Amino acid sequence: MRFGPTGISVTPAERYESAAGNRWPMSIMPASGELLSSWLHRLAYANGIPPHYFGALLEAPGENWSARLDRALPGRILQLLEEHTHIPLEDITALTNAPDPLAVLRLPLRASPQQSCAPKTQATWLQFCPACLAEDETPYFRRDWRLATRVSCFRHGCRLRDRCPSCGQGLAPFSQKRLVPHQICAWCGAALCKRTRPATNGVRRLERLIDDLLRLQASGHRMAEGRSLPDLLGSACFQFSRRPMSIARLSHRDRYQLFRQLTDGQSTPFGTRRSSAIIYWKRVAQVAPAWGGLVTSFSDAVLPRPKAGPCSNTAGPNLADLVQAAARLDQQRQAL
Ligand SMILES: [Zn+2]
Ligand SMILES: [Zn+2]
Repeated sequence: MRFGPTGISVTPAERYESAAGNRWPMSIMPASGELLSSWLHRLAYANGIPPHYFGALLEAPGENWSARLDRALPGRILQLLEEHTHIPLEDITALTNAPDPLAVLRLPLRASPQQSCAPKTQATWLQFCPACLAEDETPYFRRDWRLATRVSCFRHGCRLRDRCPSCGQGLAPFSQKRLVPHQICAWCGAALCKRTRPATNGVRRLERLIDDLLRLQASGHRMAEGRSLPDLLGSACFQFSRRPMSIARLSHRDRYQLFRQLTDGQSTPFGTRRSSAIIYWKRVAQVAPAWGGLVTSFSDAVLPRPKAGPCSNTAGPNLADLVQAAARLDQQRQAL
């Protein structure tokens, strides 16, 4: 069609729907180890919708809608996400923490984001490594950061954070009403990537041992008498703020302090009541110093040497991989 003497032509564009079907304009691939809520916030941002309104679009309940979906993703929303992103259902489901054998050790999700304005003695629902966020090509939040037994980054060796370094509030990216990426605090607008101090070697060894033991539990190994390791670790009560609290109820600051006390041999804030859970915590802290050397020599014997890279100094071998490698060796021996 041509108009007037200037000869401007107007050509109707192909309808978006006929070109792209019901797919949203931008489809974001989940990153390795990413938490569902993190992927949803990135997906919303990429498609030009602030997370608060994206939750309404998905008809997800609650102000902290995305964090709730981490724990239980209804089939209706899963189907809708698959239809609009064309990412397989199983890949989306793998981003959630459901079903969750470590539920007792997950940081608690409060009823509303306002309650995340907690004093520094209270737990928040999500931690993060500022160095990881600063280094990521597209910053994202990891599933492991919701575990109360994690206090440092295995990659960078620095401490995690559980609140904004500027305003001190817990994270609330699901409440963001402006088109701002989730590595910016939804309360005050400050960047979350301000560096933290390194964790001590003792704390990192204890944390790594607990992580290895939990991986073994998740891969099917059970403790004697069928006891659950997460239940045992999660049921111990520590005295903080004059109240007995389980590890999942403690802020990052108190959990880091607890790990230091356990590894430095200082008096620990256990209550006066002795329990099998407290005895177990002490036993794990006692063996943690020897653990790294044992796993490394086992790793050298049964696994190929990893390529040198930024992770090689801090990440260390994974116990679940080692046990699987040992099982394979045993099978091969029996087959001879
Ligand atoms: Zn990191
Ligand atoms: Zn803030």
